[in-house]
Amino acid sequence: MIKIDLATLFPAMCETVLSESIIGRAHKAGYLDIRCFHIRDYTVDRHRNVDDTPYGPGKGMLMQADPMYRTWEAACEARGGHRPHVIYMSPQGRTLTQQRARELSLMEHLYIMCGHYEGVDQRVLDEIVDEEISIGDYVLTGGELGALVLIDCVARLCPGVLADESCYEQESHWDGLLEYPQYTKPAVWHGVAVPEIITNGNHAAIARWRREQSLKTTYEKRPELLRTAPLTEKDKWYLRTIGWTDDPDDGSRTG
Ligand code: SAM
Repeated sequence: MIKIDLATLFPAMCETVLSESIIGRAHKAGYLDIRCFHIRDYTVDRHRNVDDTPYGPGKGMLMQADPMYRTWEAACEARGGHRPHVIYMSPQGRTLTQQRARELSLMEHLYIMCGHYEGVDQRVLDEIVDEEISIGDYVLTGGELGALVLIDCVARLCPGVLADESCYEQESHWDGLLEYPQYTKPAVWHGVAVPEIITNGNHAAIARWRREQSLKTTYEKRPELLRTAPLTEKDKWYLRTIGWTDDPDDGSRTG
């Protein structure tokens, strides 16, 4: 079972989110072991300060190295001295992808650090961080929302969290493509019927339809993904019928 430790100034916010829905149920059922560490609990001064003004000109506050370091030490100790893979949530990190989430889901123990204010003293980052992860090219006030996004997408790939692997293996970004359209009951809604092919029980025809719809959706919404998606000759043939060209310089719609 994966162990995930989260270092934050807002444990209540994180615990609330992590106790809900699929992740909350998986945690209660023992498929995940997630712990939140309150950085303020690892301060040594009586005001429990975690931040101070940065050196040099400029406004704002910076999180100090020592409380961050002590929190990490406490988490390692709480896990029997095991050294986790340490992630710092940062707008400067590599952008999170499904592929990276998949790799992280195979690790035994993750430790995620959330910054706040203007960020964190560089020295503690240099000393303990293995990897910086961003959730996109924009700046948030703190690392918590990013950490929760990361935990959610890593945790759902861990054994027991979803019913089985097919729940995520056919989803967008698993194999480089976006998912095909899906439908549920009623069969006709607002005068629109679900595509006949998925109601007729012919599994081979449904699989082919889904593959083509997945290719079409990717072509229409994120054509650049087709540059790196593993495509068969049959896929390429289908894509050409809807206007795609496999010119390597052309990641956009050309139809
Ligand atoms: N001064 C920093 C910079 O320019 O790179 C930004 C600090 S930001 C206001 C405060 C904290 O929010 C960061 O320490 C980080 O933990 C978190 N954060 C902000 N944007 C993020 C993003 N896109 N992805 C992940 N974490 C982010």
